[in-house]
Amino acid sequence: MANFPLPPGSTIGVLGGGQLGRMLAEAASRLGFDIVVLERDADSPAGRVAVRTLVGAYDDPQALSALAETADVVTYEFENVPAASLETLARLGVEVAPGPKALAAAQDRVDEKTFLNAQGVATVAFAAAETPAEAAAAVAKIGTPCLMKTRREGYDGKGQRWVEQPADAEAAFQALGGRPVIVEAPADFVRELSVIAARGRDGAIVCYPLAENHHEGGVLRRSLAPARAGAPLADQAERIAMKVLSGLDYIGVVGIELFELADGRLLVNEIAPRVHNTGHWTQDGCEVDQFEQHIRAVAGWPLAQVRVTAQVEMLNLLGDEVDAWPKYAAEPETRLHFYGKREAKPGRKMGHINRVKPLR
Ligand code: AMP
Repeated sequence: MANFPLPPGSTIGVLGGGQLGRMLAEAASRLGFDIVVLERDADSPAGRVAVRTLVGAYDDPQALSALAETADVVTYEFENVPAASLETLARLGVEVAPGPKALAAAQDRVDEKTFLNAQGVATVAFAAAETPAEAAAAVAKIGTPCLMKTRREGYDGKGQRWVEQPADAEAAFQALGGRPVIVEAPADFVRELSVIAARGRDGAIVCYPLAENHHEGGVLRRSLAPARAGAPLADQAERIAMKVLSGLDYIGVVGIELFELADGRLLVNEIAPRVHNTGHWTQDGCEVDQFEQHIRAVAGWPLAQVRVTAQVEMLNLLGDEVDAWPKYAAEPETRLHFYGKREAKPGRKMGHINRVKPLR
């Protein structure tokens, strides 16, 4: 295992070659680190910023051993990496951060909520089901309408269906592929918020201010940050982040998606054990953004203090919306972040912009 803190010149491995990996690589390169990406596609957004791409699946033994040979520490930009890959890397003497406990909790919606509730963190009521009959029982227990989601591998609103009446339970279960599901009570939220937080190797925790998030069709469209929020809400979010990070022995940046209820209570929807789309505003609204913070944490450096420098509206550019870049490039208050993806498929995250307003 490497000695921490890693000095500049060390190599950080990243599982996954998407935009999050690309922005991690940009931050890492500023701090003097080399990034090596493990990715199936030889020409990925992260790969074009990294010093090297190891081409292979996340569970390819040869690619993992090549990664272990070059990297001093490994992180990931995608929570669906196989847990077995972390074990393989650990066996080969390389630590992966965030560690297996965090990854396991984030990969399974039932384990995630069970962990959260055990930490005293509130979620919607839920029930698990693995068969059509159990799905019907779970829907009966939670009541309708309710949301049925696959336990694993759902993202951006994929792998979930609303169930309007008990008679629809079995059909919903089949439509989700007959795989294990979670049935969730609807959160009657007034806003969707998120908190981005980080925990260092010394156990220090920092939290960014809340972001207010707007989704369309399950995909994040816009974040406003810092969100309008009084101290009680901000304190509540911070307490949640501390419990999550400490409870998972976490190292790195986490994104915690929250529902704000009318009575001011926060429920956790989901934990993403990585840098998060709702934290992109920190690139232009904070002195040190989530990407550098993550690199600092996994490299064993001290975390940077969170200091907000501006109010930001972050807008995701999906599919051919990115073609409007000349318009955004001409806006004086707009900072552009494009991911270098070759093809603008509908709904694909091609880039984002941060519209920056000075703090009042
Ligand atoms: P998820 O894939 O769990 O992040 O869910 C995607 C989006 O679906 C969330 O951002 C919410 O807008 C909505 N959603 C998820 N779970 C619930 C719930 N239990 N009640 C109401 N809306 C939900």
